[in-house]
Amino acid sequence: MSKDKNSECVCTPAMANVLSGRRIVDIVDLFTQIQNEKHHGGTDCSLMDMDFMTDKVDVFHCTWIFKCRECNVVYEIMSENRENKDTYMPINETAVHSILATWEGYSQLREFSAGVDMHCMSNKTFLKHAKEVTEAIDDAALQSMLHAAE
Ligand SMILES: [Zn+2]
Repeated sequence: MSKDKNSECVCTPAMANVLSGRRIVDIVDLFTQIQNEKHHGGTDCSLMDMDFMTDKVDVFHCTWIFKCRECNVVYEIMSENRENKDTYMPINETAVHSILATWEGYSQLREFSAGVDMHCMSNKTFLKHAKEVTEAIDDAALQSMLHAAE
């Protein structure tokens, strides 16, 4: 199922050496970041003038770092926006929530991640997110009951 990355890769050597596997992205967020990239390094450069440097992986969330060949400006593109946590559940919590919603656990998330060639979180991280998710669900249920009792 995996491709011979060396024969098909059209990316830079840095990309080929650092990037592997697959990622989950919020496609609208990703395209918006690409379209909005306008840096002011004194030249008329854009993302097309930038070289990929590295990626920072936080399980399912990724940040890709680029540096401009013309003006050395560094730009980060994220797999999803992490700023709107009130209206947007981050992907790592979403993955744990989805696994828990199907009455499954860490082993299934690990198997799924391996099957689709993505990084997976540790069991410790899974349990941390599971605790956060269940507390949030408990809070929401309590608020709903209090609202119903009014
Ligand atoms: Zn530049």
